[in-house]
Amino acid sequence: MRPPYLLLDIDGVLIPFPDEHGSTPATHTRHDVVPTGRSADNPVTVWCNPDHGRLLMDVIRTGLVTPVWCTSWRQDATTLIGPLLGLPMLPCVDLPRPQITTSHPNGYLGKRDHVDAWLGDAPAVWIDDDFTGLDHEWAVERTAKGTATLLIQPDPHLGLQPEHLTEVTRWVAQLRTARAA
Ligand SMILES: [Mg+2]
Repeated sequence: MRPPYLLLDIDGVLIPFPDEHGSTPATHTRHDVVPTGRSADNPVTVWCNPDHGRLLMDVIRTGLVTPVWCTSWRQDATTLIGPLLGLPMLPCVDLPRPQITTSHPNGYLGKRDHVDAWLGDAPAVWIDDDFTGLDHEWAVERTAKGTATLLIQPDPHLGLQPEHLTEVTRWVAQLRTARAA
């Protein structure tokens, strides 16, 4: 069986949003990075949890998923954020650059149409903090049509938790058992 894709968002997942007091979880450490197209004297501060690299590698090393970045960081996910977590160079879904500033132009995640086309009929587990009810319906319908699809939605202020990756591992194992049956 072809391993399902593991689509990974960054903002709100690996980089949590600050709470109302401007604080980030104590587990995260500060880094200044310079995204593509930005001048070196104007870096962006990001907060990453070094444990996330280890936890993701535990899943990636099983070979049971094909990890892919799916984030507005685009190629910078591979070159800037991944290395902060000790991750190897992972491919990224080449998302279009929308002319709009909302992430839900039609009531669902704006990048979903592109991801849907990109995936074709490949099974996928997708971790993103920003799904709406329509995205969850999309996943249910996709699964019902025979393309296993799991959405995992961390709290954007907390980001990725170990149990989210446990859920990934459990889902993939169950999928393999179902296919083998
Ligand atoms: Mg996000």
